[in-house]
Amino acid sequence: MTKNIPVLKGITHANEMLADALRKQFNQHRVLVLDIIASPGAGKTTIIEKTIAGLHDELRLMVIEGDPTTSIDAERVSAAGVPAVQINTGGGCHLEAHMIQISLQQLDLSEADVVIIENVGNLMCPTDWDLGEDMKVVVASLPEGDDKPLKYPLSFQAADAVVVNKIDLEPYLPASTQKMRENTLTINPNAALFAVSAITGEGFEPWLEWIKEKLAEKRASLDSAST
Ligand code: MG
Ligand code: ZN
Repeated sequence: MTKNIPVLKGITHANEMLADALRKQFNQHRVLVLDIIASPGAGKTTIIEKTIAGLHDELRLMVIEGDPTTSIDAERVSAAGVPAVQINTGGGCHLEAHMIQISLQQLDLSEADVVIIENVGNLMCPTDWDLGEDMKVVVASLPEGDDKPLKYPLSFQAADAVVVNKIDLEPYLPASTQKMRENTLTINPNAALFAVSAITGEGFEPWLEWIKEKLAEKRASLDSAST
């Protein structure tokens, strides 16, 4: 007879239960929650800064920053003018729902429209941990190679949106934005796809529109569920 080893199952089950509770809390406050996943150096924080600059006038944003040790990113984001909380995972390679729960003690969700979670820089396991988010967003930068979607298919499959960053560097790279697009859509034909430069701001309009659209869709579906 095979024996049941409950340890890992127990942890992920506890995470799922907590993530469901977080989702309820986010829904109550009618906030859209994005979980941003990428390798270190893909430009997550710079994309978040530019997103804040682009949406600041219309929407109230808040940011939860996951990082193994420092608070550099939370300082950058809060300098951009929005409430931010830093979670240090103590070297841990992904965020878990209980960390989000603790960080929410520092944020007043009734003052938010969109919460952006910057996960720990890692394209592997963050995908497996439900944080109660509405949308998973994978950022892949062109210098990392246009074969990234093929190498990390699970993350790209789980993504609602993929943001290809650093397209301004294309002239200096062997990688191509077109190839990155094709590889992304091969792995995940349903992903919303954006090609941007967080430095120049190129390509940001459709990405910002997508966030507004997803927020409106979420609120409409909450409204229709409650009538
Ligand atoms: Mg960062
Ligand atoms: Zn991990």
